[in-house]
Amino acid sequence: MQKYTTFANKRIMQLYKIETGNFMADGGALFGVVPKVIWEKRYPCNDQNYCNLSMRCLLIKTEGRVILIDTGVGNKQSEQFFSYQHLNGDDSLHQSFANVEVGLHEVTDVVLTHLHFDHCGGAVEKDEKGVLKATFPNAKYWAAQSQWDNYLSSNVREGSVYFKENMMPIFESGNLELIDENTELCPGIELRIFNGHTKGQVIPFIKYKNTTIVYTGDLIPVMASLPTAWVSAYDTDPITSMEEKTAFLSEAADNNYTLFFEHDLYNECCTLLKTERGIKSKESFKLEEIDNYL
Ligand SMILES: [Zn+2]
Repeated sequence: MQKYTTFANKRIMQLYKIETGNFMADGGALFGVVPKVIWEKRYPCNDQNYCNLSMRCLLIKTEGRVILIDTGVGNKQSEQFFSYQHLNGDDSLHQSFANVEVGLHEVTDVVLTHLHFDHCGGAVEKDEKGVLKATFPNAKYWAAQSQWDNYLSSNVREGSVYFKENMMPIFESGNLELIDENTELCPGIELRIFNGHTKGQVIPFIKYKNTTIVYTGDLIPVMASLPTAWVSAYDTDPITSMEEKTAFLSEAADNNYTLFFEHDLYNECCTLLKTERGIKSKESFKLEEIDNYL
């Protein structure tokens, strides 16, 4: 696995993608009100209408910190539950860490964009005795206070995507850090709060060379979700999602940001282009190719 380094402002930063496997979601749910005849041209599905989605995390080494963004679904729920999610692919959190030769104990910070199972499930694992423990024993775990409140008393929509065992061991260990406003995690990495998909989704903005890489989480789950109206039926407040996406994409296009997709199996990163018909993707590429597009 290649490494990436920047010396801007004397800051050295290395980025690694951490693939944790894939799951499937109904395409109609993923693209909300958009008709299938339109979305299927932009994102493939199987004959049961399922779209295959990655759970692609991002690992950042910078200035003595080792920061992981999201953790994938993990491995501690029942086989029946995982079969409902149609888990597939050869990647796992552990194998991806081994591939980049980083130990789980080296991670200093885990940023959880939000606490839906496909984002935070890997934060807690069972040890040999079946006891739940933090996967990253030396890390602080970051989430938004409003997301935590939502998790503790979930609404009727989100009750089925939050699991007690995914987060309570972290809370009980005293390593949960909650933010209630946009926060600088460390020089070069800002955590910003969005509320359309779920209350208190944390989106990391990472300054890298002459771009800003944005880990788009469920703000823009796949590249096909760029148009304003392409909002997932899972979003709890779709009007807010559209407003947040419009403002974000305008800022991102004006400042040549690079988007990093968590859930797009086919596109890892893209740059943006402002056109008369809205903001579109300009170039799609893998993280390891990013220096060719800066
Ligand atoms: Zn989500």
